[in-house]
Amino acid sequence: MVTASPIPPSDLIARLHAIVPGRLLTEGAALEATRTDRSGWWSAAAPLALVEAESAEEVQAVMRLASETGTPVVPRGAGTGLAGGATSTPGCIVLSVLRMNRILEISLDDELAVVEPGVINQHLSDALAPHGYVFSPDPASKAISTVGGNIATNAGGLMCAKYGVTREAVLGLSVVLADGELLTTGRRTVKGVTGYDVTALMTGSEGTLGVIVGATVRIRPIPAGAVWTVGAFFDDVTAAAAACASVTAASIRPAVMELMDAAACAAVSLYLGREPIAPGAAFVLVQADGAGAAEEARAVEGVLRSSGGHRVMVSDDEVTGEELLAFRRSFGHALDAQGEVLVEDVCVPRTQLAAMFAEIERIGAAYGLEIPTVAHAGDGNLHPNFVIPRDRTEPGEFVPDFVWQAADELFTACVRLGGTLTGEHGVGLLKKRWLAGELGERGLDIQRQIKQVFDPAGILNPGKVY
Ligand SMILES: Cc1cc2nc3c(=O)[nH]c(=O)nc-3n(C[C@H](O)[C@H](O)[C@H](O)COP(=O)(O)OP(=O)(O)OC[C@H]3O[C@@H](n4cnc5c(N)ncnc54)[C@H](O)[C@@H]3O)c2cc1C
Repeated sequence: MVTASPIPPSDLIARLHAIVPGRLLTEGAALEATRTDRSGWWSAAAPLALVEAESAEEVQAVMRLASETGTPVVPRGAGTGLAGGATSTPGCIVLSVLRMNRILEISLDDELAVVEPGVINQHLSDALAPHGYVFSPDPASKAISTVGGNIATNAGGLMCAKYGVTREAVLGLSVVLADGELLTTGRRTVKGVTGYDVTALMTGSEGTLGVIVGATVRIRPIPAGAVWTVGAFFDDVTAAAAACASVTAASIRPAVMELMDAAACAAVSLYLGREPIAPGAAFVLVQADGAGAAEEARAVEGVLRSSGGHRVMVSDDEVTGEELLAFRRSFGHALDAQGEVLVEDVCVPRTQLAAMFAEIERIGAAYGLEIPTVAHAGDGNLHPNFVIPRDRTEPGEFVPDFVWQAADELFTACVRLGGTLTGEHGVGLLKKRWLAGELGERGLDIQRQIKQVFDPAGILNPGKVY
């Protein structure tokens, strides 16, 4: 049990300065920026200090000091999170690991890499590409988010129905605990069941159990051969969702299966200056890779056509494939251009995809809200984006109550359909209040007890998740 002895902020700053000379900020734009992440949420207070650690030893020293003084610590990677998880809390130290960005080892023979947490996801894949390998977790933010942040949020992406979410790629971790001790979890082996799976527990723990300072991750050979792309339009989103479910039911496992509803297609067409698609229509984009990709693409084509797909195109041309993928990837930018949005992230069993889209249409109509939605249809993960109507919002208000009420209906419907509140973005600050609805009181209590084991004084990312 840690007994904290608080000290005046100026003394704390002085002691931090001694730990990370020249890499401690107590004012300025960089410090201010840690009040927010990419969710749009702003914390009421800037942190006491922003520490830019360069080594595990520095992180340990910061945590020892924080533990001794009872100072809250918010671990932070690139700050691209969408749940408010890396935002500062009053009086806290924001502990950035962005400068810990070295790839320490690449072992092709063991198909693994050892990295520091601040390595940008894409940089790891760039380093692996000349060897014919890739780090497969592929959040749409892979060019800007860190591997440590991906692990802390158990990030998903476009290809995780086939290649798995981040958890499947993490073999072992180095974690600095709340009291500053360094814990090593996991292994370098393909298999291993010694003890509880603390590596998996840390993965997705959103900075509440420890600070990840190193990771041993799986790497995979880049699939050989051409990538085949299939695109199809549907008269409405329900038909498109049912078609995607039929692809899965036919035991086809494409690398990518994305669905965009009419509002999402309209936003992207406007953003890219393209011809608008037919009113109400939805778009499905599928990519198959590896051995058998051509046969898989033809099989997908058959299912989409027989499920009502039209203007179906199939191609192994890389440029065409990239263009279609770019249409999907432009969705975030297209919405940014429209103003503020609440980016949501629910996941349902794939058979319930059409039912979930029907719920989103119902909720949008009931609340008079635009909710353009895209889905990683291969794994049932939907991103409904609530466009915040500025004429119905008080100045400075992040998300007005009626939008939260609409989101509440979304979460309730999702759990009723057998789904989960968050498929990949995490709980952070923004979904805390719905946690018990999915986990149940006992489940939530057990999670809080686990938190207590790792962080008895409650200094690690307090107020987040639980
Ligand atoms: C355009 C865009 C597209 C996105 N697409 C996707 C997507 O496809 N899939 C997806 O899953 N997410 C996506 N995201 C969300 C976000 O990029 C991911 O959650 C990402 O994993 C966060 O990484 P980060 O380095 O920015 O972490 P941060 O935002 O800095 O932190 C996120 C959480 O992890 C904790 N944390 C960070 N680093 C550490 C560490 N070293 N040790 C302990 N805790 C730590 C923080 O405390 C916080 O709770 C997207 C975001 C944007 C802006």
